[in-house]
Amino acid sequence: MARAVISMGSNLGDRAESLKKAAAALDRLPKCRVVRTSSFYETEPIGVSDEQPDYINCVAEIETELSPHALLGACLGIEAALGRERIYDKCPRVIDLDVILYEGYTELGEELTVPHYAMRERAFVLLPLSELYPDLSVYGNDYLEDLEKLGDQRLRKADI
Ligand code: ADP
Ligand code: MG
Repeated sequence: MARAVISMGSNLGDRAESLKKAAAALDRLPKCRVVRTSSFYETEPIGVSDEQPDYINCVAEIETELSPHALLGACLGIEAALGRERIYDKCPRVIDLDVILYEGYTELGEELTVPHYAMRERAFVLLPLSELYPDLSVYGNDYLEDLEKLGDQRLRKADI
């Protein structure tokens, strides 16, 4: 059994409901169970060039016997089942599921990069992660200094 962290985000439709459905779908996967989830945070879109609604984001820690690639495939399947459409890069989405960390595993590939390529620049990943790991030392990696550098990214706990 390995532990892994999935980040979830939505800025289309009933955002909180989509995160809840995604967490339930992760928990229903074979060889996978959700151990705990963070609070929900409302966040401004980062790295987009158009006007977009705010996101709701959270992270979930899972325990899984799926390989990292099988887990990524399952996440993409859950996105599709919840109606994710890819119209253009960084477009608004009903649900986005990213594999952030997978215990004991690193890969730098186009199909899969773990730890996630942008996690250290995203307060909407690191702040919820710090609820699960208060010292932000996760599977042997340290992210506390990264979060401290991101103080200007505005997030508020969502009232959900
Ligand atoms: P993004 O999440 O960057 O906005 P998408 O959700 O459209 O973009 O994902 C595009 C591709 O990113 C996926 O098809 C997947 O193969 C790839 N990818 C690489 N590493 C990861 C990861 N750690 N988690 C999720 N997707 C990843
Ligand atoms: Mg994604």
